[in-house]
Amino acid sequence: MRLDKYLAHLQVGSRAEVKQLIKKKLVTVDGDVVRDPGFAVTETMQVAVSGKMVSGQLAVTYMMNKPAGVITATEDPQARTVLDLVTPSDRRPGLFPVGRLDKDTTGLLLLTTDGALGHDLLSPKHHVDKTYLATLDGALTPDMIAQLEAGIVFKDFTSAPAQVKSVGDCEAEITIHEGKFHQVKRMFHAVGVEVVKLQRLSMGGLRLPDDLQAGQYRLLTEAEMKQLQ
Ligand code: URA
Repeated sequence: MRLDKYLAHLQVGSRAEVKQLIKKKLVTVDGDVVRDPGFAVTETMQVAVSGKMVSGQLAVTYMMNKPAGVITATEDPQARTVLDLVTPSDRRPGLFPVGRLDKDTTGLLLLTTDGALGHDLLSPKHHVDKTYLATLDGALTPDMIAQLEAGIVFKDFTSAPAQVKSVGDCEAEITIHEGKFHQVKRMFHAVGVEVVKLQRLSMGGLRLPDDLQAGQYRLLTEAEMKQLQ
């Protein structure tokens, strides 16, 4: 990653401010002053600003294929949490799940130490679409699909028009724009069917990879980070 972007990412300052620090020869990499804001920083380099080490603090974001039976929380006195699936060496301070999947829901879940990213992904302003594969206890009729696509009026909110595609007799892919508690289950219930199985397939442009087994997780690549926007 470019040195100026890296420092901005660590919240040392804005891109313009960190460029000034670099210009003023206040930034060293492995002990040497670096004056090129485009200098390529790697994980193992020691970066300091005014003599104070800042490297080693870069945020991490993992994608997990959440299995059924674990709860989306950082800790719980009784139940297994998604954090329990992260090996101790990867369990960086401040790691938290972005949003919430129900205990029985499987699929794409992000875990990050980046509070700003977590906030953006959950903020209604940013409208990160979420697509789920739902297995239902009955078939969807065209009328039910039309209701889901028009938006459902609940006591506490009205869902924005969803995109719904039948993919089997009792299976449908649904894309929603909010992330309310039990939203998908409540939407299907409102049109007369129950969700018996639910899997999150994608968030924004980021899709659950086929080769990520249930319970596994891995770091997001930079390209995948961009797909979230
Ligand atoms: N909607 C639900 O009903 N449950 C989930 O876990 C996610 C979305």
